[in-house]
Amino acid sequence: SPDDKATLLAAMKLVSDAYFEQLESGKSDDSKIAREYLASRGIDDENRKRFHVGFSPESWSFAVDLLRKKNFSGEVAEAAGLAIARNGGGHYDRFRGRLMFPIHDLQDRPISLGGRVIPAIASKRGDDGGGAKYINGPETRLFRKSHQLYGLQLAREAIRRSGEVLVMEGYTDVVAARQAGVESAVAVLGTALGEDHIKLLKRFSKRVVLVLDGDTAGQTRADQVLDLFVRADVDLRVLTLPEGSDPADFLASHGRSNFDELVAKAPDALEHKLNRLTDGVDVTNDTHQVTTAIESLLGIVAQVPSHASSGMALKVDQLMLRMSRTFGITAERLNQRL
Ligand code: ATP
Ligand code: MN
Ligand code: MN
Ligand code: MN
Repeated sequence: SPDDKATLLAAMKLVSDAYFEQLESGKSDDSKIAREYLASRGIDDENRKRFHVGFSPESWSFAVDLLRKKNFSGEVAEAAGLAIARNGGGHYDRFRGRLMFPIHDLQDRPISLGGRVIPAIASKRGDDGGGAKYINGPETRLFRKSHQLYGLQLAREAIRRSGEVLVMEGYTDVVAARQAGVESAVAVLGTALGEDHIKLLKRFSKRVVLVLDGDTAGQTRADQVLDLFVRADVDLRVLTLPEGSDPADFLASHGRSNFDELVAKAPDALEHKLNRLTDGVDVTNDTHQVTTAIESLLGIVAQVPSHASSGMALKVDQLMLRMSRTFGITAERLNQRL
């Protein structure tokens, strides 16, 4: 039945393994193209296997047929997020002609998949854009994207050991990071980092480094989650990569040690926020902007829980000191405002 979680898990495992096998065997012309694409992205065999990367053939019914042969109905395929219901009845495959990244839960069971377009396969189909670059699985009984992080099942031990987790934006970033020896990386799954992610991460480490793509979308992401981290009393650092590059790109062109250096130097999120608010602002003359910046920063500080850790308390003290220096206002007055 489509309501039965064990059934959905079994269906998901069957299809995830079949996609893996398609890429592994490299038998069809398309799967060879997929392997070449993977190689062009610099992902090696060890990491293809480690992350169970696969290929969904260019077919409307590869997954649906495979599932039916094992007595799983179209409704089960749909409930697992693998197929879509047709208007006239029946089901067709959600993922076609894509590189497949399975998403695993903490027990290492596949619960969803993300599929990336492969340019050479999309253009054979006469579809140059190839549709969306990524198609992510929908929310199902197995998969809630706000509760899940890509790669956590592989990274959890390294995160515990190092006391630090790197949160990236994409599947390929996590794979590239792991291949470069960076073992504590995870990615959010086509959604913003939320309260439930933070709760999950808190089980494994006290420090989170947000590693953001150096594009405009990346810039604002830290602002959106700062409140959540402050309220959760988690030590958040923000690393914004140079313009135009993401972790995979950066590691490929600059290597592991340069990446590690950026991580080590990543500013605290409050400091990052202060920098962003005062960037290009003339603090002696732009009174309106200064007032806005102060209100905004104090608004965040006000959310620090009263039972906050000494680490958080120290961070707040440092911020107040920096604000006092930057804006030329005594710490006393800032505290009054607070
Ligand atoms: P690549 O290096 O393969 O181009 P990326 O991970 O660098 O991929 P980004 O454009 O930086 O891709 O997007 C980051 C993440 O956001 C992706 O890994 C994916 O989960 C999600 N995403 C990107 N584009 C889309 C899309 N069109 N639809 C749904 N999700 C997307
Ligand atoms: Mn991006
Ligand atoms: Mn990328
Ligand atoms: Mn990216």
